[in-house]
Amino acid sequence: MPSTKYIFVTGGVTSSLGKGIISASLATLLQSRGYSVTIQKLDPYINIDPGTLNPYEHGECYVTNDGAETDLDLGHYERFLNRPTSQANNVTTGRVYQTVINKERRGDYLGKTVQVIPHITDEIKRRIQLLGNTGEFEIVITEIGGTVGDIEALPYIEAVRQLRWELGEDSLVVHLTLVPYLAATGEMKTKPTQHSVQKLQESGIQPDVLVCRTEYDLGEDIRRKLALFCNVKKEAVVQSIDAETIYAVPILMRNQHLDEVVLKRLNLPVEDNLDLVNWRDFLYKLRYPQTEVEIGLIGKYVELHDSYKSIVEAFIHAGATNEAKVKIRWIHSENLSLDSVEKSLEGLDGVLVAPGFGERGFDGKLDAIRYARENKIPFLGICLGMQAAVIEYARNVLGLEGANSTEMDAETAHPVIDLMDEQKEVTEKGGTMRLGACDCNIKEGTKAFEVYRRKQISERHRHRYEFNNKYLEDFEASGMIATGQNPGTELVEIVEIPEHPWFIGVQFHPEYKSTVANPHPLFVQFVAAAIRYSESQNA
Ligand code: GLN
Repeated sequence: MPSTKYIFVTGGVTSSLGKGIISASLATLLQSRGYSVTIQKLDPYINIDPGTLNPYEHGECYVTNDGAETDLDLGHYERFLNRPTSQANNVTTGRVYQTVINKERRGDYLGKTVQVIPHITDEIKRRIQLLGNTGEFEIVITEIGGTVGDIEALPYIEAVRQLRWELGEDSLVVHLTLVPYLAATGEMKTKPTQHSVQKLQESGIQPDVLVCRTEYDLGEDIRRKLALFCNVKKEAVVQSIDAETIYAVPILMRNQHLDEVVLKRLNLPVEDNLDLVNWRDFLYKLRYPQTEVEIGLIGKYVELHDSYKSIVEAFIHAGATNEAKVKIRWIHSENLSLDSVEKSLEGLDGVLVAPGFGERGFDGKLDAIRYARENKIPFLGICLGMQAAVIEYARNVLGLEGANSTEMDAETAHPVIDLMDEQKEVTEKGGTMRLGACDCNIKEGTKAFEVYRRKQISERHRHRYEFNNKYLEDFEASGMIATGQNPGTELVEIVEIPEHPWFIGVQFHPEYKSTVANPHPLFVQFVAAAIRYSESQNA
């Protein structure tokens, strides 16, 4: 088999230019030409993983099948490529140093002084090549988090320099920059890009491709100028113009032949086999919806929409499948109360209560659930949202006053949600939840079965608390039933209310598995239920 090709994606000028989307879009084009591609993200922060980070810091924590708590860009990689990622796809400085320090403690360095170069850079290089060495991928795209010039990114840039030297023609660097528009003079400015390329060159790296984020078309002159000043071919200066949806970016890149530029540079054949039919079909449905529904997303991190990235994207996929635009109404659960809930939720066609941790804003979630349940509005509760649905039902239907999760009230008389046994001795916070893919058996003749049309599914988890099975009989006798359970442990994974048109709570996170090619059935059916509800309201 020919050797794996490595593409490095670096960023300059500023953060948040969309390196993740550019990486995913390039990967999509290469995959659409039949190449097997994976994408990896190197994050320069010192946390071992983002699992311990507050969503306000870094947005959603994305969970892979193998239970890795990772950067939200991995979600984009999976959504675009429809291929699962794993722990190997996300590396942090914390993880790199931890490995090196553990080796040092074991005596593996045989008395040598352990240094950033070569020991840290060697560990970074090893992790970059891990995916390539599996033999599964022809092309590995490695996105370097942060911006060139950041102190903490230096060892990564140095590792890329060394790898380029070792890999030669089998590697390539794409540098993403910003070309700002100065309204005062009516000009687009190339200097920030020139400086950021100079910064890369100072570190011994010459980019092969420039992707320039811009609000306006770059035009021939700017491209020529950038090519001249930055030592790249003119056809390798590509613009990334603000797009109405991230899913249009592969097409925008294709229109400028980014895939061909990259393949030629890597000495890979460019055949006439690009297949974007399904992608374009999805984009068409996204652009020309037949109807619109509005869904309330209730959570406590709603000021930062990235905290719920995968949920938002899953709605986009599900909307396209239903040929409907899904409008999200962001509702802060702290602002909800029994008095305000009607006004806040008025006109919604569906209610989603989001995952979360801790007490803040919890009561507002219960009020929203009660409103959706009593008014027969389609409801989906995810993780904490499912737990809240159970608590609301316990209090208001089973009459268990003060019923709660022991996460919110350790002394509750009715712990309908309780810590899992395996969690009782756990004291460390990082990586210790129930994480990753678990099997779930679904009962036939239920809504859950209508959704999945299968008796066995696997979904990803990230939680410590669970439905307390001591109460299961009481719940089922009163109209909330467990329709999905773990085959080994009987942990309740899905609850639903058969009397309600569409009321489902899931202990797992379906949003992580929704992709463009495979929109998640729970979201697809939830949106379908919202459309039916909306039609019934307007009839
Ligand atoms: N805080 C809850 C638990 O740990 C729910 C977690 C979540 O929503 N991801 O069980």
